Amino acid sequence: MKIPFVNFEPMHHALQAAMQAAFQRVYDANWFVLGKEVEAFETAYAQFNAVKYCVGLSNGLDALHLALKTLGIGVGDEVIVPSNTYIATWLAVSYTGATPIPVEPNTETYNLDPAKLEEAITSRTKAILPVHLYGQSCNMTSIINIAKKYDLKVVEDNAQAQGASWEGCLTGSFGHINATSFYPGKNLGALGDAGAITTNSIEYAEQIAIYRNYGSKQKYYNERIGYNMRLDELQAAFLQVKLPHLNKWIAERQTIAQWYNEALKGVGDLFLPIVEPGATHVYHLYVIRTQYRDALQAYLTSRGIGTLIHYPLPPHLQKAYSYLGYKKGDFPIAEALANTCLSLPVWSGISNEELMFIVNSIKEFYNGR
Ligand SMILES: *Cc1c(COP(=O)(O)O)cnc(C)c1O
Repeated sequence: MKIPFVNFEPMHHALQAAMQAAFQRVYDANWFVLGKEVEAFETAYAQFNAVKYCVGLSNGLDALHLALKTLGIGVGDEVIVPSNTYIATWLAVSYTGATPIPVEPNTETYNLDPAKLEEAITSRTKAILPVHLYGQSCNMTSIINIAKKYDLKVVEDNAQAQGASWEGCLTGSFGHINATSFYPGKNLGALGDAGAITTNSIEYAEQIAIYRNYGSKQKYYNERIGYNMRLDELQAAFLQVKLPHLNKWIAERQTIAQWYNEALKGVGDLFLPIVEPGATHVYHLYVIRTQYRDALQAYLTSRGIGTLIHYPLPPHLQKAYSYLGYKKGDFPIAEALANTCLSLPVWSGISNEELMFIVNSIKEFYNGR
């Protein structure tokens, strides 16, 4: 048996006719940048996310960057970020000229630990950038309360958690401006790069729409030093086909995760995902931890099972961030996660037989030790 880590085939096979029709519609319209498709997707995604505005952008990293820039974050400022996240979260802060200030996660949810936030706040702190990692919502009540107390802006990195919620409200609806990604492997994925911001502020939405299009509202008149960070019509058309299926795909991921949770309970030294009361988890990734991670991954590879490590080296130890002067041991929780985490396949259309094979292979690995 060969089980890839991600497999778009079942999902895309089911949508083939609708996706081809979307392609044909854009092809026939002969309008490829900032038109009806982007507008229609923005309206649909804002509605899905229960916010007033969505602005379609080139990718999630650009969305994070424009969110921070629009909130006035720049040189000399500090932005609080998780010590364990994908590098994009930190890069977006760096693009503005501000400094990312890492805070360690909770050891069970892997999300920013609100109890450690306050000690990281200085007179330069301007914003908190929580990441709903792996698809589980952060504790937004605590984060928003701290942000209010210190008059800080909040930008949610919702790249992995579209459709997740905290105490009944959707992620991507809490911060001043929130960013998400429609990278193909995300829960809602385009057929290429794409992203968006969500916000309830018309001022912020308008500014971002200007930034994404060369700093221009009226063609050939430029209000700011803008960018080319637009969402393509074609990707917006594909995303419109996929969005109505997102909640069903999330439910499928949750069923798979539940099944893994039960089947892997008590196996070896495995530490399984824990969902905080008040949060929901949409399982962009199903991440287990074990001190035998490398050996388990090698064993599963030998059995034809694809797994990945999210992420093998935390941002503070990346060469790109050596200028910040951090060393090994500075963020021990993030480092321990990087050394023990392993993501199992969790894609729409994976069969019971495949799931059984994965779980049995993991059990065999531990029996052989
Ligand atoms: C994917 C991702 C991003 C970046 O999105 P892109 O569309 O790939 O630029 C940012 N943050 C997190 C947590 C992500 O998983």
